[in-house]
Amino acid sequence: MERFDVLIVGAGAVGCAAARELSRYRLRIGVLEKEYDVAAGTSGRNSAVVHAGFNNAPGSLMAQLCVEGSRGFGALCRELDVPLVRTGKVLVSFSDGDTETLRGLIARGERNGCEGLRLLDADELRALVPGIGGIAGMLSPRTSVFDPFLYAVALAENAAANGAAFFFGAEVLSLRRENGLFTAETPRGDFSAPVLVNAAGLASARIAAMAGAGGYRIYPCRGEYLIFEGGADLPAVPVYPAPRKGIGGLGVHLTPTTEGDVLVGPSAEYLDDPEDTGSTAAVQARLADEAVRLLPALAGRRPIASFCGIRAKQAPPGEGGFRDFVIRSEEAVPGLIDLIGIESPGLTASAPIARRVAGLVGRLIPLTEDPYFDPIHRFPPRFRELDDETRARLIAEDPAWGEIVCRCRLVTRREIADALNNPLGVRTLTALKYRTRAATGRCQSGYCLARIADVWRQELGLQPEELTLRGPGSELFAAPDRSPAL
Ligand SMILES: Cc1cc2nc3c(=O)[nH]c(=O)nc-3n(C[C@H](O)[C@H](O)[C@H](O)COP(=O)(O)OP(=O)(O)OC[C@H]3O[C@@H](n4cnc5c(N)ncnc54)[C@H](O)[C@@H]3O)c2cc1C
Repeated sequence: MERFDVLIVGAGAVGCAAARELSRYRLRIGVLEKEYDVAAGTSGRNSAVVHAGFNNAPGSLMAQLCVEGSRGFGALCRELDVPLVRTGKVLVSFSDGDTETLRGLIARGERNGCEGLRLLDADELRALVPGIGGIAGMLSPRTSVFDPFLYAVALAENAAANGAAFFFGAEVLSLRRENGLFTAETPRGDFSAPVLVNAAGLASARIAAMAGAGGYRIYPCRGEYLIFEGGADLPAVPVYPAPRKGIGGLGVHLTPTTEGDVLVGPSAEYLDDPEDTGSTAAVQARLADEAVRLLPALAGRRPIASFCGIRAKQAPPGEGGFRDFVIRSEEAVPGLIDLIGIESPGLTASAPIARRVAGLVGRLIPLTEDPYFDPIHRFPPRFRELDDETRARLIAEDPAWGEIVCRCRLVTRREIADALNNPLGVRTLTALKYRTRAATGRCQSGYCLARIADVWRQELGLQPEELTLRGPGSELFAAPDRSPAL
């Protein structure tokens, strides 16, 4: 049995942010994650937008924490070396009713503390986003896009560098509380602590119930996306339709990524199965139609990939909209801190949520600042972002910098090798994709997979058949027949 001061269930952005925030203090922190990397759930499957905070009800936790998160996000990404681009965001009106909705959003945003929101006439709208449909628009100048994978990885690696321990493949199967200690049973053994932070996303109601706090319910709501390769005719600014009531999301939007692709989505569809991350032909066709309505230039373009993310909604089907985040120290179960219904803008709000968690932990156990806490995190260099001089110097030092493994994203053998030796010890193809962006471009691994397997074999001395997509059960290569020839 491993003993900690605080156990965190779930290594999504929220669990990782909580681990990093708590690592400022002299605490033994353990993070239990059922999958084989961070951001394997909703945190790796979303629009990756730092929202400004005008969508949420004034006075709600969602509004407060979104605005607080948005204000601090740039500084946080600089500390953690996470790509962030301040693109601004445009909302498009197709009718007078939509324009009225946009006026209402500006008023709401101003009450929430958002700065610089304003209406755009049709000319201003098309100057900002050439080729866009619609009759008017709204500008949110502070909205940004960022890399959600590297965000979670950086939070976790920084927490680990400051002493937090991460356990992957450690699904919490049961919880019991005896003599003021929670004990979590996992396939990797038992873990115990007096404080348990439930950051299990879609499973948060189940974990709360296991710990003795019933009464929560999460309604999974799937959002599908298409990914288009970026181009000069695609927007460099996120473009959203004016929101419609009761859809449970923000509507199908076009969102540039920090890699230069454009996401189209998400849909909103309530499901029974929180793990059903499949894409469907019918929804993809609808997404393509809605995207063309926003940007006619997309007509006839083919996406390079699709994916989906699942919202952890507290609002049941039919109700639509958003219910507020629950961030609560459970009086009935002392030591249990529940984070329930952390849907959008949960990424934007993740650092403020983590600070609230630390505040709640401080009421349960004494917190002493760790004078050795180091907030700075750095990733290995990204070859495609370097100037020619730096590239030449690195190649002269180590020829692995000069061998391109992924042509679509210009990723070198050195970067793949560094990513395989990442500080969290995570070794799946998805972990490499998150960390280097290899295999995420137009060829979707057709060119680079065999080369990645070769680096894997040489760096780690492992066989290709041991390389998995996301952990055991998702092996990418069949083992050769090694039985003796007859
Ligand atoms: C379609 C979509 C678009 C979105 N767009 C945005 C956006 O643009 N901006 C924004 O700010 N937010 C956005 N969000 C919301 C944001 O993605 C979430 O709020 C955020 O990722 C929630 O993080 P989390 O850590 O709470 O949950 P998750 O990332 O789901 O993490 C929970 C973790 O718990 C683990 N877990 C579950 N059960 C167990 C168990 N029994 N034992 C151990 N581990 C367990 C899971 O494997 C998972 O890794 C979007 C969400 C969706 C679905």
